[in-house]
Amino acid sequence: MSEQNLIGILQANLSAVRNQIADACQRSGRDAASVQLVAVTKYAQWEWVQALSRLHSVFGENRPQQLSERHALLPDVQWHLIGQLQRNKVKLALQHAALIHSVDSLRLLSRIIEVGQSVSMRPRILLQANVTGEASKSGFRPDELRDAWPEILAGSERIQIEGLMTMAADSDDPETARPAFQSLRRLRDELASRMDSQQHHVSLTELSMGMSGDFVQAVEEGATLVRIGSRLFEGME
Ligand SMILES: *Cc1c(COP(=O)(O)O)cnc(C)c1O
Repeated sequence: MSEQNLIGILQANLSAVRNQIADACQRSGRDAASVQLVAVTKYAQWEWVQALSRLHSVFGENRPQQLSERHALLPDVQWHLIGQLQRNKVKLALQHAALIHSVDSLRLLSRIIEVGQSVSMRPRILLQANVTGEASKSGFRPDELRDAWPEILAGSERIQIEGLMTMAADSDDPETARPAFQSLRRLRDELASRMDSQQHHVSLTELSMGMSGDFVQAVEEGATLVRIGSRLFEGME
């Protein structure tokens, strides 16, 4: 397929998704500018990624290695890490990712703080919560996060905790995802209410939730970052 054809398909997919986001915002009384689309490129061929970079500038990858390689080739794109991060890949992730969505344990959090300090940066992160209780999903259990919150806040001036991330259960019916999104938003509200004025560097404004199958419901429930992959690349092969 020529690059022109690729761009044509991507343009159509992107506008369809952006329109759905705008409609969901309108239904829920939100400003469409409050939702950022993270284009997930983990399964996308390099030609597709290049073509998409002419139309969009915030991409997500779930592996630090692939993210770092693609960041080196497309440095003007803002790359977000959305997949599980091993502690021995933290340095690589911090060098290449503008935002890490998937901080899923205290051990990982302290490693990120430690590596961040050694390179004089305050990493931007989201805490991943497992609100569905599925054993197959990573993330803090909500109770674990509630209990650890004072400890997390105590070290928080060395990191930028911008919000929470979750993944809903897979389902053919996107409405089944809605309660998970509501839970994440409530958990965020609860944690935000437990900060004092000293902790203004923790913003908790971001809710990263919603993927190709359920982003409309996520936006209606307050998502500020939607992570969309397969929907953008429909019709490419
Ligand atoms: C792959 C992935 C997505 C995107 O999934 P699609 O269904 O292709 O939109 C979103 N979030 C995470 C964490 C992923 O790994």
